[in-house]
Amino acid sequence: MYCCKVDRKEGEKVRRCLLDKGLLNREYKIKRVGDALYIPLIDTLEPTLEDELRSLFGNIEFLEVKDEEFQRRRGSKKEMSFREYLLNNFKEEIEKGWVSLSYDVIGSIVILQISEEVDKDTRKKIGENALKLIPSIKTVFRKKSSIEGDYRIRKLELLAGEYNTLTLYKENSYRLWVDVEKVYFSPRLGWERKRIMEMTSPKDVVVDMFCGVGPFSIACRNAKKVYAIDINPYAIELLKRNIELNKVKDKIVPILDDVRNVDVSGNRVIMNLPKYSYKFVDKALDIVEDGGIIHYYTIDKDFKGAEKIFESKCDYEVLGKRIVKSYAPREYVIVLDVKVNKRI
Ligand code: SAM
Repeated sequence: MYCCKVDRKEGEKVRRCLLDKGLLNREYKIKRVGDALYIPLIDTLEPTLEDELRSLFGNIEFLEVKDEEFQRRRGSKKEMSFREYLLNNFKEEIEKGWVSLSYDVIGSIVILQISEEVDKDTRKKIGENALKLIPSIKTVFRKKSSIEGDYRIRKLELLAGEYNTLTLYKENSYRLWVDVEKVYFSPRLGWERKRIMEMTSPKDVVVDMFCGVGPFSIACRNAKKVYAIDINPYAIELLKRNIELNKVKDKIVPILDDVRNVDVSGNRVIMNLPKYSYKFVDKALDIVEDGGIIHYYTIDKDFKGAEKIFESKCDYEVLGKRIVKSYAPREYVIVLDVKVNKRI
């Protein structure tokens, strides 16, 4: 088994980060030896991801050890056995990339990754087993398409359980209503939202240009004000519910519109539309005040292209850069924290 070795003080941060990236092996317990923790991983990591984790957490080592060195977790027996069920029955499909061992749990809904190559009856059978083996799950979907269109949503196929797309999701210290069919939402960004939450100060005016149901906006509730903008009416409807639910009515201003038509300004701008954010850089520069920060999310294999976009447009400094999650083989969702000193 592959694992990473970290200092005990960094343990919880690394665990959360690995969990968000879908890399933590939840079937085994983390092992402590003196001041070091050995955290089990589901697979080897690509070198770029290893480098990113090293840059985030400093002293981190990646190594291979025997399975017996780790104790199985007792509490997660049910979830563990769904992965075991997949490994025992679909080894070949997993190797071909048709069935994935990683899946997203959003409240009472689980979304599996099984390709069309697996026939319909088998897909349903896997769904029924997910329903039995993953705790607190009432609905099992499979990703039927990639994320598409302006609203950044995907088609889903019901595999088992009740047809319900609305669920309540808890992360960090807030709760969110999410409709997995009508709005974009990824539980794998929880760590990233926590990072932005910790950077936000009570003096900040935040502009969340592509807010969805509001996870980043609500994570920034420590700010003076947050303008939360989205073009998807369902997202704004749920954002309003989430504002009520988290008691942040005085802080967050929901705006249903194309961000290009919205006239607001702030000192912290969140551009969480990785696929198309490059088209909105000029708008973000209109919004951001001199000295303010843009959190620029994009998809790339490294950070060069993202930096280049800002070069011709403004006098800037890169305060931080990190890989947020994998997107495709050797492609990542990355983020640049760009301090804009002055627009050119
Ligand atoms: N930030 C949210 C989150 O983390 O869950 C949502 C991110 S999702 C990748 C991008 C969002 O941008 C979608 O909800 C989509 O509806 C919205 N969007 C796309 N184009 C837009 C535009 N021109 N103006 C405003 N919102 C837009």
